[in-house]
Parts: sequence; C-alpha cells; structure tokens
Amino acid sequence: MALRHGVDFDKAQALHRQEQAMFSERRPRSRQLSAAGGEHLLFGAPLHWMADWSTPFNLYVEEARGARLRDVDGHEYLDFCLGDTGAMFGHSPAPVARAIAEQAARGLTAMLPSADAVWVAEELARRFGLSHWQFALSASDANRFALRWLRAASGRDQIIVFNGCYHGTVDDAFVDLADGRPRARASLLGQTHDPAAHTRVVEFNDLEALERALRDERVACVLAEPVMTNIGMVLPEPGFWGEARELIRRYGSYLLLDETHTISSGPGGYGAAYGLQPDALVLGKPLGGGLPCAVYGFSAELAERAQRAKRAAAPGHSGIGTTLSGNMLAAAAMRANLAEVMSDAAYQRMFALAQHLADGLQDWIERWRLPWCVSRVGARCEFQFSPQPPRNGGEAGAMLDEELERIIHLYLLNRGFLITPFHNMLLLCPDTEFADVDRLLEALDGFAGEVV
Ligand code: PMP
Repeated sequence: MALRHGVDFDKAQALHRQEQAMFSERRPRSRQLSAAGGEHLLFGAPLHWMADWSTPFNLYVEEARGARLRDVDGHEYLDFCLGDTGAMFGHSPAPVARAIAEQAARGLTAMLPSADAVWVAEELARRFGLSHWQFALSASDANRFALRWLRAASGRDQIIVFNGCYHGTVDDAFVDLADGRPRARASLLGQTHDPAAHTRVVEFNDLEALERALRDERVACVLAEPVMTNIGMVLPEPGFWGEARELIRRYGSYLLLDETHTISSGPGGYGAAYGLQPDALVLGKPLGGGLPCAVYGFSAELAERAQRAKRAAAPGHSGIGTTLSGNMLAAAAMRANLAEVMSDAAYQRMFALAQHLADGLQDWIERWRLPWCVSRVGARCEFQFSPQPPRNGGEAGAMLDEELERIIHLYLLNRGFLITPFHNMLLLCPDTEFADVDRLLEALDGFAGEVV
C-alpha cells in the first residue's frame, strides 16, 4: 500500500478514475461547450488557467446566486470557492445587482468621476484609516500602481516580498528564494526583465532576515499579505507583525498591505482587526461585489510625497492608471457593496460559519488520524497536508500536493461542492447555511472512508 499524506494513494487514484468517468458522463452540455470552446478559445477556455481545474473538461456555469451555483447540465453546487474571494459576500448580492442595473442605464464610463467615487473614498478612509485613495480595475493593477507610487514617492528602487507570495500578475512580486537567494519565479512566461534585480525576498515570520533586507535603506516598501493565503495559508506568529511594522518604520520604508484575501478578517481587513497600521493598502476582488474593480490607499504623509513626485515628474505618461479605472459603474457597485453588503452583521455570520467549519475539519482530521492541519483567517479556512501549520512560504510550498488536491476536489465536485482550486481553501459567505457546512463535512467523511 502506497501511503501518501496518510492516504492510500493506489485507492485514491482508482477512485479518481471513477470520479473522472462520473463527471464526464453526467455533464454532456459542459463537455459539448468545452469541445466548441476548443475551436476558438486558446486552451479551450477564456483564460488559460481555467483549463487547469481538477475537472476532465471545463465546468460551465449557468447561474450563481448567494452560496450556490448551477452548471449548464442542471447540477447544483454549494460554493465554498466563491470566485476565489471575488464573490466573498455571495454571488450577486441584491443591493449590488440593483445598483449595477440602475447605473447601467445611466452611463458606464466617461473618463470623469461620479459622486459615488467621493462617497467610496470617504468610506474607505473610515474603514482602513488611510486618508487618500485611487481606483483600479483589478488587485493586480492596484498592486502594480501602488508599487510605482511608492518607489516614486520614496526615491528608493528595491521592494521586499515574502517567499511564496502571490499578489496577482505583478512582475515585481514573482521572485522566489532559491538556495537563500532571490530568483525570478521559474514558471513565469515571456518575462525578459529580471524582477530579482529590484525585489528582495525573505521568509514570512523571519524578523532577522527582514531586518537584514531593510538595513541598507534602499527598500521603498514591503509588499505583504498580513496572512499568506496563496500558498496554502501561513499565519503570522504572535508578535511578528508588531516587530515587523517597527522595523519597516525604523529603516524609513513603507508597509503596503495587500488585503485582497485577508478582507475575510473583517470590514477593515486584517490591519484594522489586529491594529496593524499600514502606510498603504490594496483591496480588489470582492470590493464591488464581484464587478471588476480595486482600490489602493495611502496615508496622508505618503499621499503628500506621491503628489510631490508627480509635480516633479516630466509631463506625459506616468505608467500608472487605465482608462476604465474609477468608472461610474464600478463606483456604483463599490458604494452599494460597502454600504449594504460588507456589514458587521455579515461578518459576524461568516465568522460563526467559518469557526463551525474549522472545528468540523479539525474533528474530521482527528477522527481519520490524517497528518493534516487546519488554519483560519476570519471567513477563510484552509486544510493542509502536514500535521503542523507551516511557518513560512517555503514550508507551505513543500506541503502542497497537487495530485491529491485534484482527487479531493473532483470527488467533492461530483457530490455538489466547489472548493478553491490549486490549494484547499474554503470561503464562507453570509448566504451559506450551517447545514451546508455539515453537508460538506459529511462528504469529506465519505472521501476519507474511501481512501484512508
Ligand atoms: N492579491 C492577492 C492577495 C490575491 O490573492 C490576488 C489573486 N488571487 C490578487 C492580488 C490579484 O487579484 P486579481 O487577479 O483580481 O488581479
């Protein structure tokens, strides 16, 4: 018997073959669309990585509402992926859908601001404690633009990221630690510049390495998720952020928090929930209830330096901003979402659900004696294939097992549960029911019964 992460892998692979057959047999319409998509969609999908899910061919969606999703063959799913956070408050929240419909008839984009932008910036300042804001169309863009401003404002050329991070398609952040040295991520396509020339990498939770990287005072900012969420989950050790914050300040650098996923921690993100005061912050994905938009905010001091940098620059293209950023439709969606959906009450419910799920996962792991662990940040849970939670990205990366993940994910999908691909992340939205969580846990029990 080949045991892998506590699982009988021969059995798991045999089960997977059955699951693939079952998936294919029951989804003729998705299969047909996938075949048709193969004609004119590169990789047969609107986006190349959509073809990398655990399914034998693409699963096509008919409709998504609240915590539920229906595919084109009429199968219903409880959605614990929620668009990898884009739909963190449920699919098509009613106030956002209404605001979008109303605004859609009154203009979509004009290269001019609408009054909603002022309301949104005021609300963001209140929630996140940063005084000045700019809009973008995706968290990737917001990160890219914020990095530009921070380098321009500080006059420093280097940045620091944590090993194993993901901040979207931001070339500066695609640098890994290889034998202790920064190196461009091996999987990058078509990149001819060396991002490692201006990016330093340290392991999360390593204060000494962070100080070493900051010491020559060439670092414009540390770009970080307060909890790493994209290489499995890595929680900060007690005291890590307090000291890291202090070091960043001491060496005249800035802290740029990417709260795109950790907004699962509360209405003001992880920073507000844990008293971590960033100098700059990025938020995308769920901000407009799923409509593409993102924001980045600066402290008053940083905003002043950014304004000075722009005044001092030559006239012409700044390399920052896109035509549709801050459009009227996105501003209306953000306003409705912030005003009516991302509420304290919604978070309280999501936290209770997530705690219920995390407890259930822990019980499940113990019952089957799996050498796995569970981490949670607010409304987000993750189970990982190691008895101890990882301390940093290097450890977290080493415990990923893509093949096992795919086997679990497809098994769940065939039973009506969607979880986030490429790791084992589960999100809870206000529309999720406690009974939905129990049903997921029962399905996981069924899986363990087959392979443990
Ligand atoms: N930041 C973080 C922390 C993310 O997880 C992601 C996407 N997974 C992004 C930024 C990029 O978001 P988008 O793909 O919407 O640009």
